[in-house]
Amino acid sequence: MRERVTENPLATVPLPWADIDTVLLDMDGTLLDLHFDYHFWMEYVPQKYAEKQGLPLEEASRVIREKIHSQTGTLNWYCLDYWQEQLALPIVELKHELKHLIAEHPEVIRFLAGLQKLGKQVIMVTNAHRDSLAIKLECTEIGDYFDAMHSSHDFGLPKEASSLWSHIQTQTPYDPKRTLLIDDNLTALRSARDYGIAHLLCAVHVSPKLEAVDPEEFQGFEHFSQIMPSQ
Ligand SMILES: [Mg+2]
Repeated sequence: MRERVTENPLATVPLPWADIDTVLLDMDGTLLDLHFDYHFWMEYVPQKYAEKQGLPLEEASRVIREKIHSQTGTLNWYCLDYWQEQLALPIVELKHELKHLIAEHPEVIRFLAGLQKLGKQVIMVTNAHRDSLAIKLECTEIGDYFDAMHSSHDFGLPKEASSLWSHIQTQTPYDPKRTLLIDDNLTALRSARDYGIAHLLCAVHVSPKLEAVDPEEFQGFEHFSQIMPSQ
């Protein structure tokens, strides 16, 4: 665990904005603080599951962790219907109970407004289920800044699958060579790279309450002030 460093200005991350027409953006962890999702799945759901099954909290937490772990990288992992059935809990209803925790990262709106002002095509590509997306859009202002929003569930493939990027292209045309993807999911960044998306950036600071992501072979940034668009 480490706290976000805000006292020292962070270095600008150079991006070739003149070569970028389209920006594909992930939602959870990238634009929005992952604390909501983490707290929901790691604390709130185990607590509700323990109550429902009459289990000690530790046992319920272990069961939930194992179930979640077994679905990593699959569409089920993000599918509220799947979890609703698996856990016999009203997942969507429970998410609404915690929605006050949903928050954008600092400077996200300024970043999105900057993209809009420069006439970039801005497309959300999220593995979040449509119901999750709806709650997040209701609680934040980010929805006003997108030309299109795609949930990978609509295509039956997660972002971890390279072919998803061509499916997106058939619905919302973009030129991969003039496209930037910003995501905190390294597997998604790699599948986009395999498809031919030219510019890739890793959002490392998913939440002030969580460990930063190691961007490995990708360029990373911590704070949106580092990547403000310019032409
Ligand atoms: Mg994410």
